[in-house]
Amino acid sequence: MAHVWMHNGRGWTLTMLSAPRVVIHADPRRAIEAVTTPQAGEGAATISRYRRAAELPVWVLYAAPTAGVEINGRPLWLGIRVLRDRDAIGLGERMPLFFSTEELARVESFPRLGTPVFCARCKLPIAEGAPAVRCPNCGHWCEQSETKACWSYGPTCPMCEQPTSFETGYRWTPEEL
Ligand SMILES: [Zn+2]
Ligand SMILES: [Zn+2]
Repeated sequence: MAHVWMHNGRGWTLTMLSAPRVVIHADPRRAIEAVTTPQAGEGAATISRYRRAAELPVWVLYAAPTAGVEINGRPLWLGIRVLRDRDAIGLGERMPLFFSTEELARVESFPRLGTPVFCARCKLPIAEGAPAVRCPNCGHWCEQSETKACWSYGPTCPMCEQPTSFETGYRWTPEEL
């Protein structure tokens, strides 16, 4: 799930974007709040989610041109931007917030996809509805049930460097900057 990293003065904290629209305040003491209508006033920016059918959601940042919002260090002149992974959102005097679309590996029911998909580990077709993991880094699927734990069979995804431990947290945090 898309999320926002925010510095609270002591360290980075994470807010999941579980609501379709949230507002961010320039006041660093105020949390990210779910709202029903965009907040266009001074010292506030709104992030809204748009989703079309099965496609990945798109997150859009809105702010009044006078709100003083910056994106990756540049003013948000048009008042709107489709957010990209790791975008830095500057607002007032607070430390920039970071938007991230990184997903964690999780077991889900394998969806109906139209064409057969083969487990990246054992190369056998994955049955619809079978418990499986979609690698959050490369997108390949592996089965993951108690009797067939193909995803967690090795330390990393068979197709990329993504660790397979379910204890692994986010690979990217703002501390790397
Ligand atoms: Zn398998
Ligand atoms: Zn992978």
